[in-house]
This record gives sequence, structure tokens and C-alpha cells, in this order.
Amino acid sequence: MVRNLSLFACAVIAAVIPLKAAEVFEKDTIRTSAGNVEITFVGHGTLMLRWGGKVIHIDPWSNLPGFSTLPQADLILVTHQHGDHLDSAAISRLRTPTTVLLLTAKCAERVRGGTVMKNGDVEKVLGLSVEAVPAYNLVHMRPDGTPFHPKGEGNGYVVTIGHTRIYIAGDTENTPEMEALRNIDVAFLPMNLPYTMTPEMVAEAAKAFKPKILYPYHYSQTDPAKLAPLLIDTKGIEVRVRNMR
Ligand code: ZN
Ligand code: ZN
Repeated sequence: MVRNLSLFACAVIAAVIPLKAAEVFEKDTIRTSAGNVEITFVGHGTLMLRWGGKVIHIDPWSNLPGFSTLPQADLILVTHQHGDHLDSAAISRLRTPTTVLLLTAKCAERVRGGTVMKNGDVEKVLGLSVEAVPAYNLVHMRPDGTPFHPKGEGNGYVVTIGHTRIYIAGDTENTPEMEALRNIDVAFLPMNLPYTMTPEMVAEAAKAFKPKILYPYHYSQTDPAKLAPLLIDTKGIEVRVRNMR
């Protein structure tokens, strides 16, 4: 009888957990001089920020579990045109008549009504600032020798809220432009191979620009636990691993 009861309990838990897991995301709160920013770790390369009653989506991708539960956007940032970053169905669902959409020229070929940002451009929207940082490959190439992410096509974004600077790198390697960044409080660096960086490349970048908080993201099959030991002797960088496979 006891055995039967525990089997029953397992069946109930198994039925409940997948639903909850799909709808409950990990969240962190970052304090800024302009109020708290809540980061929602949607998964893969997709993030959502909430600040001052506003909702900011970054590379929204409708394939992710629970995506359909997320609120509509005041601002959407798209880093580049690959399918797991530019998802026109996701953008359609999140967009309202007042949503601001910032994207690259390649993305604008597929989604209308956005503002194109070139590498280096700065936009001030909704009381915050967005700066486009180059995102590209130097080392990892396709079999035909072209980079997975050619220079000039993709953007990372530095979002400045109050005095706090949040860098979402997009699909990139540790470029000179990344390593020259300064005063970054929170950085999201990609670690999915062979398209972006190895843990060693992420560590090298972090040693150069010293973000206070470093989240490996978009790490697919790369083990995110490999990053922290590489930075053990570097002071002032807190590595935080969240569910961003
Ligand atoms: Zn990509
Ligand atoms: Zn990607």
C-alpha cells in the first residue's frame, strides 16, 4: 500500500513539474541609481529586463519553454539575423503599437518598423541608453573559411540604466572592441561552440574588461562550470551561472 502511494505521488509530481518548469524562470535583481532592474533568464540567448514598469526583451525566441507566458514589450533588442535571435513570430507577439524595436540592417530586411543600429551607434529610448558594440568571429569559421558571424553584421548591446551598464554581447568572440569596454557592471558572454567562445576566450575577455558580474549565456553544450575556475585569480568578477543553455 505504501509503495502504491509513493508511486501515485511520483506520478502526480511528474505531471506537475514540467508545467511549472516551463512557466517559472530564474530571476536576478540588479540595483541601479535609477531603481532596480529585474533580469529574467528566459533561456539560450534570450533575456528579459524589467525596469521602472517597462519590459525589455532581448533576442526573444518563441521556441523556448514558457515563452508564451512573457509580457509584451516596451523595447525589443535583436542582435543579429540567425533564427534563434531573430524570430519574427516572437516579435509579432510581443509588439504593441508603441514598442520600440532596435535591430541590425540584416534583421530589418525581414522585420519592418524597427530602428537599425550600426556598430557604434547609440540610441536613447525610454529613459535608458543603448549602444551597439560589434559582434563577430575572429577564430571560429565555417568550413568554407567565412566567419559564422562576419564583422559589421551583428551587434552586442550595452544598456545603460542610471549609472549601471549591462552588456549583452550577442554571438561574438573576444574582439578588441569587447576587450576595450570599460565600466561594465553586468556582462552576458556567449559560450556555445563552435559558433562563439570557449570558456578560455570568455575568461580572457573578462580579464580585459572586468565586468563586476559575469553571466555565461547561450552556452548550449559547453559546461558553464568551466568558467569560474579560469577566473579564480582575478579579483572583482563574480561569475553567476543561470539556466541559459
Ligand atoms: Zn548567431
Ligand atoms: Zn546564437
